[in-house]
Amino acid sequence: MPDKMRVINSGLREMAEWLPVDRVPWVIAGPCSAETREQVLATAHGVAACPNVRVFRAGLWKPRTRPNTFEGVGRAGLPWLQAVKEQTGLPTTTEVATAKHVELCLDHGIDMLWIGARTTVNSFMVQEIAEALRGVDIPVLVKNPINAELGLWIGAIERLYGAGVRKLAAIHRGFSTYTETEYRNRPNWQIPIELKRSFPRLGLICDPSHIAGRRGLVERVAQMALDFGIQGLMIETHMAPDQALSDAAQQVTPEELSAMIGRLCVRDAEPLEAEVRSQILRLRACIDQVDARILQDLAERMRWVQEIGRLKKQHHIPVLQLDRWETLLEDHVARAQAAGLDPDFVKTIFEAIHTQAVQQQL
Ligand code: PEP
Ligand code: MN
Repeated sequence: MPDKMRVINSGLREMAEWLPVDRVPWVIAGPCSAETREQVLATAHGVAACPNVRVFRAGLWKPRTRPNTFEGVGRAGLPWLQAVKEQTGLPTTTEVATAKHVELCLDHGIDMLWIGARTTVNSFMVQEIAEALRGVDIPVLVKNPINAELGLWIGAIERLYGAGVRKLAAIHRGFSTYTETEYRNRPNWQIPIELKRSFPRLGLICDPSHIAGRRGLVERVAQMALDFGIQGLMIETHMAPDQALSDAAQQVTPEELSAMIGRLCVRDAEPLEAEVRSQILRLRACIDQVDARILQDLAERMRWVQEIGRLKKQHHIPVLQLDRWETLLEDHVARAQAAGLDPDFVKTIFEAIHTQAVQQQL
């Protein structure tokens, strides 16, 4: 590793913590996008009344996947955020993607900036933002890149640290996948945990809204994040979520946010030593990874089953061939035993898989 990188790396490992580690989550809330002055202010007054909300968010420049969708109000929304701060006392944050955005935010007293998932992937843009922040003491939150790559995420954080930004935190917002999943963006918890392991003093916040993609799942993801020891949450909140111009399905009302925060629970990890706690987190991440693999393999198995089902139908072959099923089961049970697994347990699992496979072919 070149000397300069070594300095950045050890600096990041030893940086002063600025994000409070508390018995209650530290919450950033506000709409996905600022739409109108009225919508911004009404939402801000709503979230200011929620417990634990420490910062107000609203996107002004919106990076959208497809063209001809709402791309944000841009600089016109800056005075609205100033009004939020004046009227509610909440500090404000918005997404920046260019040096110009940074300059405008600094000129308008925005208190905190975040770098979006589509920007973190681009080292030129991150470097440009980092240069614009040289000599400025403002907290910067870095969302993970849209693809599941820890290196890129760390790289963006290093670029900012290298430019002198010292109040840094990472936002875990999940990773996009091509296949359909329960989530809009897969959490891949092992990645933020690995980031925290590499830089234990770096603040870590979870954005359950973009992971969930639908409001019914936001609380479950938020609780998982707290269980993983993540200290903060960024939750998209809108006065009238169904009318939102972006991310309507995942936004909650301030009332829903308030109730959700009341139910979330930070488990008491005090009696555990930090080392034991981080071992538990690491092991859980490994378990989750294996579970994800099992599910993927099951899905693949079912795809093959459907294909063989089609072939059998075409050639008028009966779905169930008992001799094949018997040898398969014997074989699996023997292999399970050799691998030190309980044969009855494995038999139960394969009987369930087989029943499902037969149903799929009928
Ligand atoms: C957002 O926070 O509204 C946003 C665009 O997030 P991300 O960069 O995580 O997609
Ligand atoms: Mn959004």
